[in-house]
Amino acid sequence: MIEFRSVSKRFPDGTLAVDDFSLVLPARQTTVFVGSSGSGKTTLLRMINRMVDPTSGDVEIDGESVLSRDPVKLRRSIGYVMQNSGLMPHFTVLENVGTVLRLDGASKKDAEARSRELLDVVGLDQSLAERYPSQLSGGQQQRVGVARGLAADPNILLMDEPFGAVDPIVRADLQQELIRLQRELDKTVVFVTHDIDEAFLLGDQVVILDKSARMVQSGTPSEIMEQPANDFVAAFIGADK
Ligand code: ATP
Repeated sequence: MIEFRSVSKRFPDGTLAVDDFSLVLPARQTTVFVGSSGSGKTTLLRMINRMVDPTSGDVEIDGESVLSRDPVKLRRSIGYVMQNSGLMPHFTVLENVGTVLRLDGASKKDAEARSRELLDVVGLDQSLAERYPSQLSGGQQQRVGVARGLAADPNILLMDEPFGAVDPIVRADLQQELIRLQRELDKTVVFVTHDIDEAFLLGDQVVILDKSARMVQSGTPSEIMEQPANDFVAAFIGADK
């Protein structure tokens, strides 16, 4: 379980990205943060693995503050998948997927074997293993990004607009793949998107955010669809209130 406890983040330039945010993210479920650009979704996500530290408040994982954890080790123990895949251009697919394993001390051979298994897990053909990212389609790159996020077998997977840069058909494919993976792997997934349809499709819990990560509504997709909390949510989901 992940818990945000009265978390705020003010950046040095004065921007209040997150204002007193509290939420429980249940283990082995998918929580989706959805909101317009600049609402603070990425900042919230990055506070879980200490890419950003809060100005006040705390984030806990299974009752332990992330602030007491070593940031580098914490980051290695949590999968992170971002938009545009974030792959290293001069590394092959196998090298990209296996980097975190090598950092954790795995031999080249073991890292490669595990990386090959992960290609199967995310539905990538083994013939792509030695290619470089520039030799892959956008959708294939995102699959490699997901495989890399899963490499260390983390309990928590953070996904920041992972399917934002691919065309709608490939995107639908990747969404279905994630639903299948989530059924099989049972991770705690935190997913960021500005697309409400994607949020409803993937989320067990959907959290709608406005400026400074103000929580407008949270609940299951059907709870939100049936009873939008206010006109903002109704307009956002395209429903009549
Ligand atoms: P998007 O959907 O566009 O990615 P978001 O909802 O993920 O947006 P954040 O990236 O969390 O929003 O940003 C929230 C606010 O904090 C924005 O106003 C942004 O400009 C600001 N912000 C983010 N990072 C920094 C930073 N390092 N320094 C100053 N301001 C920042």
